[in-house]
Amino acid sequence: MNITFFSTHPYDREFFEKGNEAFGFSFTFFETHLGPHIVKAVDPTDAICVFVNDKVNADVISILAEKGVRVIALRCAGFNNVDLQAAKAHHMQVCRVPAYSPEAVAEHALALILTLNRKTHKAYNRVREQNFLLHGLLGFTLKGKTVGVIGTGNIGASFCRIMVGMGCRVLAHDIRENPDLQSLGVTYTSQEELLRSSDIISLHCPLMAETHHLINSKTLHWMKKGAMLINTSRGGLIDTDAVIEALKDQQLGYLGIDVYEQEEKIFFRDLSQSIIADDSLQRLMAFPNVLVTAHQAFFTREALQEITQVTLSNVQDLLQHQPMRHPEALLV
Ligand code: NAD
Repeated sequence: MNITFFSTHPYDREFFEKGNEAFGFSFTFFETHLGPHIVKAVDPTDAICVFVNDKVNADVISILAEKGVRVIALRCAGFNNVDLQAAKAHHMQVCRVPAYSPEAVAEHALALILTLNRKTHKAYNRVREQNFLLHGLLGFTLKGKTVGVIGTGNIGASFCRIMVGMGCRVLAHDIRENPDLQSLGVTYTSQEELLRSSDIISLHCPLMAETHHLINSKTLHWMKKGAMLINTSRGGLIDTDAVIEALKDQQLGYLGIDVYEQEEKIFFRDLSQSIIADDSLQRLMAFPNVLVTAHQAFFTREALQEITQVTLSNVQDLLQHQPMRHPEALLV
């Protein structure tokens, strides 16, 4: 059984080749993303394995069908880049990895908070240049601060537990309340009340029509002046232009993002020798109180092992018509 991978980096190969010792698939790796430009060059294969920025639209799927593809395996949770109806029409099955190490993402949100607050990235460079002054490094004590968490699913719940452990007062907003979190002292409230009361706001809800630009010029002005905003979920939750204005007039005190509205053509690439045409990203990176990481919150050894294990189990179960070990992974 052959799986053809797209958008692969050395770490994908390393983890999948190691994980495959227990499965015995034959692999073909492409570094390029999947799209109309490459699909005709793909050799016949039983399954394809794709990531967040691969384009698996109806045209691509109809050519994949001619190549004998029976399974489309996403090695991520989101599936907005796959035309599920077209896959169904061509009798292909589509699966994903619904949850992998939510703690990895929650811990990265904490890393963004601590770095922005205590400025360890600046201190590191300063000390290396033998400047031992503390000017400009003043932070605040997290204990006792109010942290607002929007979306308390797998990742948001883990993040709530971390922040309770840090001694923070935790407010939450979700369409479903989690009683386990309430018993830890987390208080559910409206989105407006959460934004008005929190010193730090962290976004952990999915990107959907209702949550698109959840953070906009109106909601930014509900926030406390100087509040910190953290987004490790999806870039489209934040209206980038509104956030830039709020940073310029100092309404927003800090911004930590692992995801960006227009990240598709930028993240997961080395553009160090290129001119980046995205003025909004360049403007964001010019603020001293903004920290951008390039969609790395999931990127831990444990999460990659989980992604590998679940993806290969999904493909094996579907190709061999066995009951799925991860039934919640099946989309079509
Ligand atoms: P999840 O499905 O377990 O939780 C999402 C929560 O959001 C649910 O509790 C849901 O009820 C809630 N929600 C839905 N609509 C809402 C709304 N309008 N207002 C408030 N809450 C709402 O998902 P998860 O595994 O916790 O992942 C959360 C998000 O994190 C994903 O959507 C994904 O975009 C992102 N993510 C990012 C990375 C990364 O590396 N940066 C990795 C994995 C996931």
